[in-house]
Amino acid sequence: MKPAAKPQYASVELPFGCAPPRPHCPICGHALLIVGEDSIANVDACRHLAFIFIGEIAEFGFRSTDFQKRAAGRRTSQLDLSKLRKFLERIGYGNKLLALEITYGGMACGPVWYSDVYGFDYETIGDEVAELETPASVVVASAADR
Ligand SMILES: [Zn+2]
Repeated sequence: MKPAAKPQYASVELPFGCAPPRPHCPICGHALLIVGEDSIANVDACRHLAFIFIGEIAEFGFRSTDFQKRAAGRRTSQLDLSKLRKFLERIGYGNKLLALEITYGGMACGPVWYSDVYGFDYETIGDEVAELETPASVVVASAADR
């Protein structure tokens, strides 16, 4: 197999004034944010979500266990959106990572724009397939025993 290529990075900008994005996992369809009555969004991660990077504060809003292991000992305090892509590469993510950057804006005291990045690790799919196949083959075996 070829050595892992770079993380895949997609950027999209929503039309001005759109509601903030409610991203879903492209692998399993899980809704990643739960918005309460107080309008505060809480992360409800599925196993495929590697990270959420919040551009406005230049911090991670979520990091998976695997991501934390990869990033252990790395400084993330100087990170911003322009450096994130290189950072993902440096901590060993290849082309099985999809980073989706969503930019959206609306009116506050003036027009404001935000960019958040959601990282999805397609490497995690392998574990799932193995888990799904095991019970299925058990069922086939027990059916054949009859
Ligand atoms: Zn998922």
